[in-house]
Amino acid sequence: MTDLLAHVARRAGRYLQGLNERSVAPGAPALERLALLEEPLPECPTAPETVIDLLDRVGSPATMASAGGRFFGFVHGGCLPAALAANWLAGAWDQNAVLYATSPVASRLEEVAQDWLLDVLGLPEDCGAAFVSGATMANFTGLAAARGALLKRLGWDVEADGLFGAPPLTVVVSEETHPTVHKALGLLGLGRRRVTRVPVDGQGRMRADAFPKLDGPAIVCVQAGNVNTGSVDPVGRICDVAHASGAWVHVDGAFGLWAKASPATAPLLAGVEKADSWATDAHKWLNVPYDSGLAFVRDAAALSRAMALTAAYIPKGARRDPGQYTPELSRRARGVEIWAALRSLGRSGLAAMIERTCGHAARFAEGLRAAGCEILNDVVLNQVLAAFGDAGTTLRVIERIQQDGECWCGGTTWQGRTAMRISVSSWATTISDVDRSLAAMIRAWREARGE
Ligand SMILES: *Cc1c(COP(=O)(O)O)cnc(C)c1O
Repeated sequence: MTDLLAHVARRAGRYLQGLNERSVAPGAPALERLALLEEPLPECPTAPETVIDLLDRVGSPATMASAGGRFFGFVHGGCLPAALAANWLAGAWDQNAVLYATSPVASRLEEVAQDWLLDVLGLPEDCGAAFVSGATMANFTGLAAARGALLKRLGWDVEADGLFGAPPLTVVVSEETHPTVHKALGLLGLGRRRVTRVPVDGQGRMRADAFPKLDGPAIVCVQAGNVNTGSVDPVGRICDVAHASGAWVHVDGAFGLWAKASPATAPLLAGVEKADSWATDAHKWLNVPYDSGLAFVRDAAALSRAMALTAAYIPKGARRDPGQYTPELSRRARGVEIWAALRSLGRSGLAAMIERTCGHAARFAEGLRAAGCEILNDVVLNQVLAAFGDAGTTLRVIERIQQDGECWCGGTTWQGRTAMRISVSSWATTISDVDRSLAAMIRAWREARGE
């Protein structure tokens, strides 16, 4: 076992070292070689070294180099050294993080990480927290707590009796609410379509002036960090209005919530701490391995009522059974990497990572503007939307950039305009990565215009 692990560490090290030289997207030959994996199930056992050799030889070249510094697609993050190494050690531990009894260390690391997270994100210190697989499940978890708490106030026990015959809840979203919130609403029986949509402004922010008058129980879903523009809903003002009628405010802050960790960007999220539940991703801007998300709920009892396997009362101060807070029961100890990331970065390191990536985004916007390209958003965080003339040209530029391999960006549509989206979410991105990528983008634009 020891030799095998040393062997795989060498191969992984070589892989990571090679990222700076290779194409960000895998080339056609690497994709063709994936056919080598299409073999019948072996009749007999194979040595683990042979299995790993095959995986590395065929698998590694066919990866997207998103662990490197020049992947800017969607909103991904990289993986911090301490987080990756902790992930390996935790893999060796093979802990089931369901109960304190099955993994005391997983339980305690979640508790420590929870306190640090609430501190660094500026959220109420007695929130309940769930360590889930991503923001989709974090939205689901926060909204499940919301649904249960609002109906409980009306004397309805939704966990026991379901939604059949329950009093109706109003759900308010914006035109720019992330599709995963709608999915979570569907999973919770609240309906993907049965929502009140508030219009947004030119940056994708919910318009507080167009906020509906609420009477009766309501869940209001706001967003901190629009996937296209990075903009943040006026969450403080919306909390004030929504709370006046007793509504529950849920924040989808999949990446944007981390902006609270830096004094430079925190003002953008002013008032976010007034909400009732928050969803965020750790695998995006915190740069831990997949899959890792977090839900925080101000009313910790509402979280346990929604998620506990049995309706047993959890006394305060008792050992944390992590499985009492999440949709899953058995699961890996994903708090380990969150703890390791925060332990290695410290408060200043986390703030620096957020500021550095935002700075890189600003540098992209500046460089592209200087080259004559149109930037469609106010670059307030780590997201940049670029248009290279008309839609057809922009799509050709994106295709060329992806094929060229120096960096990787995806396309999007922003308020009717075809655009390229640059998301700088990785700790690994350097100024030199930004400049190499800028040169590749400008080159691709020139080529797309036939120059
Ligand atoms: C990425 C993202 C999600 C979904 O997160 P997953 O981790 O992929 O489940 C939800 N909302 C926003 C705003 C996001 O950026």
